[in-house]
Amino acid sequence: MLNIQNIRNDFPILSRQINGNPLIYFDNAATSQTPQVVIDAIVTYYSKYNANIHRGVHTLSQEATDAYEHARQDIQTHFNAKHAHEIILTSGTTHSINIVANGFSEFLKKGDEIIVSALEHHSNIVPWQMLCQRTGAILKVIPINLNGELIVEAFNELVSEKTKLVFVNHVSNALGTINPIEHIIKKSHNVNAAVLIDGAQACPHIKPDLQALNADFYVASAHKLCGPTGVGMLYGKEKWLNKLPPYQGGGEMIADVSFEKTTYAGLPHKFEAGTPNICGGIAFGVALNYMNTIGFETIAAYENELLNYATKQLLTIEGLKIYGTSKQKTAVISFNLKEIHPYDVGSILNQLGIAVRTGHHCAQPIMDFFEIPGTVRASFSFYNTKAEIDALVKAVKKAKTMLSI
Ligand SMILES: *Cc1c(COP(=O)(O)O)cnc(C)c1O
Repeated sequence: MLNIQNIRNDFPILSRQINGNPLIYFDNAATSQTPQVVIDAIVTYYSKYNANIHRGVHTLSQEATDAYEHARQDIQTHFNAKHAHEIILTSGTTHSINIVANGFSEFLKKGDEIIVSALEHHSNIVPWQMLCQRTGAILKVIPINLNGELIVEAFNELVSEKTKLVFVNHVSNALGTINPIEHIIKKSHNVNAAVLIDGAQACPHIKPDLQALNADFYVASAHKLCGPTGVGMLYGKEKWLNKLPPYQGGGEMIADVSFEKTTYAGLPHKFEAGTPNICGGIAFGVALNYMNTIGFETIAAYENELLNYATKQLLTIEGLKIYGTSKQKTAVISFNLKEIHPYDVGSILNQLGIAVRTGHHCAQPIMDFFEIPGTVRASFSFYNTKAEIDALVKAVKKAKTMLSI
């Protein structure tokens, strides 16, 4: 059981007022809020041991290096990766995906096929389109049904000996649908295709066991996991990371440099050119440890309760339609009020102190499928309460009255 008041006390921002009302933060799918322990870790880093890592003999540099590598181990433990060097620290999910997309240029030829899902975030569509342009590979898309779920039979038909890569998000950021990635990974491996899972939206709610999952690559961003922005991870199986060429050249990623020939450093440094986000990496580890002390099963159970409660309450409002009605979903509710533009609803909610996201949520193809310009998206976290959901329902009713013609 969660002691919700204690947890809320961990997050200083939750005591803010917005337009004279207490902040109700329901934009967790875009970024999560930051607990005091993570803020403290950032302050401590800059006030006690700020230094560049991996190259100094001096004390500060050694302390910073130890803390950074310790964070990598904490991340490895959390995700149950086999080796710490399979965890590449990046600037976030988008960066991680681009490392893989860029690397695969060398492995693909004309006529090879890449499969992506119709539920993808833009960051998971554009790099593959660019990869296809460079290599002549063909992009195939797994369609969705009206519940916002991938059509598994259609995926089964798409996979063939031509498939070289499959890219699917673990959870859709626009609708919250949890995708059947275990099936997708097994089926793709039957034809020797590599699989990359975008875990950015899943990781705040589900603790993935990467060895059990057996995905070739898995990516996430710290800022959706109570950590800071500008840092994230690329997990890759050792054999894939060894095969994949480096993405950027620079300091830190080389073993030996001359003008004739440069040899690359081993993992993980091969993919970590230049000075990384040292403080961010350290804070990422602290954020994961914080969430683990609460426990991911406890978090998921509580958020599910919030999801069911909010779904039921919102559906009592006449004319409100929820998009994404899979039984397997995380605590995200995308909805519209008949005829009313989502932006107008969002603005009124903001007047009342409620932060939601409006628009296409970086997933325009999903909006096109439902033939809507966008949605209002309320996404919940373990620090939200049922009382906040009651306030949301009341505010949506008010918005409906104010905006109905
Ligand atoms: C947030 C998100 C991304 C992008 O993450 P960045 O941190 O902006 O790189 C990609 N995919 C999904 C599913 C997301 O939710």
